[in-house]
Amino acid sequence: MERVGVAVVGAGPAGSLAARAAAEAGVRTVVLDHRTELGHPVQCGEFVPSPRELADLFPVPDLIRTAFDIPPNTVLRETRWMSCVSPYGHRFRFPLEGFTVSRRAFDKALAVRAEGAGAELRFPVGVTAIHDDEVRCADGSVLRADVIIGADGPISTVGRSVGFAPSRAMFRMITATVDGPLADEIDLFFGRAAPHGYAWWFPRAHDANVGLGVHHLAPGASLDRLLDRFLREQRYGPARERTRWWVPVGAPPESLVFGRALLAGDAANLVMATNGGGIPTAMLSGWLAGTAAAHHLVGGAPLAEYDRAWRAALYGPLERAARIQHFGDRVMGVDPLLALGMRYIGVSGLDAMMRLRWPSRLGRNS
Ligand SMILES: Cc1cc2nc3c(=O)[nH]c(=O)nc-3n(C[C@H](O)[C@H](O)[C@H](O)COP(=O)(O)OP(=O)(O)OC[C@H]3O[C@@H](n4cnc5c(N)ncnc54)[C@H](O)[C@@H]3O)c2cc1C
Repeated sequence: MERVGVAVVGAGPAGSLAARAAAEAGVRTVVLDHRTELGHPVQCGEFVPSPRELADLFPVPDLIRTAFDIPPNTVLRETRWMSCVSPYGHRFRFPLEGFTVSRRAFDKALAVRAEGAGAELRFPVGVTAIHDDEVRCADGSVLRADVIIGADGPISTVGRSVGFAPSRAMFRMITATVDGPLADEIDLFFGRAAPHGYAWWFPRAHDANVGLGVHHLAPGASLDRLLDRFLREQRYGPARERTRWWVPVGAPPESLVFGRALLAGDAANLVMATNGGGIPTAMLSGWLAGTAAAHHLVGGAPLAEYDRAWRAALYGPLERAARIQHFGDRVMGVDPLLALGMRYIGVSGLDAMMRLRWPSRLGRNS
């Protein structure tokens, strides 16, 4: 039976960064993904903050320089502003540098970098379960690995196999591309557009990524109907290429090490709860998982090094974001209350929340 040092399940941002880190350290690394085309279909809003903005959220500049390296040829537009739009259309606008990227190109580019570092990509290969050092695949083959990294997204087969049961809320998401106005600004819409969630407008090169995510759907409601109403009310064009998927939010878990298995990215519930962004945290946690696997295999370090590393880099801001989101959720279902709350905390408060910090008007500082 074939044996490798590291088997990475999933070639999204987390998996490709994990594979690159392990392969660069000289470990034989194989990445398995069940997609026939990496990065497609796109199930994402495709926005990433600039590395400078990310370093304001997670003060780990060296890690960000190494692991959050956005492939330049995947960038569709540079954006400079974010607006949070209240249920009655009031705009709160603040500076936020970032990019929209083509996820279809982005995931491929990150995977190619991992391959360039020496990792072997295998797709389409679905993983059905892991058991101790065995990675069992849908075609009946089995791969043995000293370390297994689960980077297989929110519905994680690896997570399920190792008994990972995070306390998490899943947001139901729908996304599409449409024609409409293009600017250097991204917009988040709160209120009836997406009760207990938000809708977005993220301009790409020639069209825009729109979508919405909600915590739960009222009886009789559907993601498609919510999206259609949002597009109509904002006078955007008809939706193309609709996809639906999940985003895990909620507090980060305590540990992501399960024997020889490590979890990263969405599989590990590492999403920023106040803005739903998970690409940067997937890349950072993936890199740390791959690095810890390599240190274990090359230098004999305990795999628990991964827990120490990701907790030091990500835990504090993610945990705070989950508490802020939980607090805000109380007013999110009632438009007049939500509009009042947005006015009360104001532009600086919304800016703070998007940066995973408490609004100063709520009088909390941790
Ligand atoms: C609609 C929507 C909009 C979003 N918008 C944004 C945004 O604008 N910005 C942002 O930062 N985040 C956004 N997110 C979140 C972001 O997409 C995720 O946090 C990010 O993709 C996580 O990366 P990952 O590598 O952990 O997982 P994924 O990107 O989900 O990658 C997992 C990979 O594993 C593969 N896989 C899964 N199961 C198996 C299996 N059993 N066997 C083999 N392969 C498997 C999949 O094919 C996939 O390639 C959005 C999410 C959704 C759903």
